[in-house]
Amino acid sequence: MNTRNLRFRSNRVRDIASLFHEELDGMYGSGEVGVFLDMLFEAFLGWDKVRLLTSREQTIDQSDLLRFHWALEDLKQSRPIQHIIGYTDFCGCRIAVSPDVLIPRPETEEIVQWIISTFNIQHSAFNILDLCTGSGCIAIALKKAFPAADVTAVDVSPKALEMARQNAQNNGVEVRFVEGDVLGGVDGVNGQYGLIVSNPPYVMEKERAQMQRNVLDYDPALALFVPDDDPLRFYNAIATIAKEHLADGGLLVVEINEALAAETCAVFKAQGLNPNVHEDFRGKPRWISAQA
Ligand code: GLN
Repeated sequence: MNTRNLRFRSNRVRDIASLFHEELDGMYGSGEVGVFLDMLFEAFLGWDKVRLLTSREQTIDQSDLLRFHWALEDLKQSRPIQHIIGYTDFCGCRIAVSPDVLIPRPETEEIVQWIISTFNIQHSAFNILDLCTGSGCIAIALKKAFPAADVTAVDVSPKALEMARQNAQNNGVEVRFVEGDVLGGVDGVNGQYGLIVSNPPYVMEKERAQMQRNVLDYDPALALFVPDDDPLRFYNAIATIAKEHLADGGLLVVEINEALAAETCAVFKAQGLNPNVHEDFRGKPRWISAQA
């Protein structure tokens, strides 16, 4: 394919950027398209933002141009940028993603940052349990922040666990991964944990209609959806696990569906815990914490 077939006016950085903006701003907004360009130039060429800003007149190789061409086509099809480049950054960890795992969200990153900044590491039983770990992002970021803690992470999907194991290895941390169904009583969860965390599936089937294509078509449904008639099934299971395995003085933290904050709190209250609701950076109720 020559440059003409690729529709770029030239191999010049400024022409690549302007075609991206022309074709994608209507769909994503120009700010987000700028972020995509930053991410693509970093992933494909290893350029940081400053290099990109100061290299507008530079040309890139034809083979690299081809990668930008396909990225543009993929973005027009709502393929997530994280799938195009193969990773996302989460609390300073590079996390590889694929359609087998939920792409880590900034809301979840905020929760982990909150845990890291508030959690008192004086607990005697300082083991960490992450339920429904997916890509492993939470478990890996916590192990990095608390290197002395033993971290166990559970997921029902063997393919997700494969990705999570790879992510732990890439980030140079040791996490014990356990295949198990949180809804079915997990084998391999033993003893007391100073910190239990989870970002379980919580989107109700009836909420599908309001969701974006990039989520519906590319994130695994298994990681997202719960039945309309039992949307808190994971929280009931987590509360039961916490009752047995949360150490005295330990902390439980779960991401929640913003539409079900009160109902989710009630689940933990029923197990004798005292939950607090926290709002995310968008001002939506996004996580519950409870100290044992
Ligand atoms: N926050 C995610 C979304 O809106 C859902 C995550 C989850 O179900 N745990 O797509």
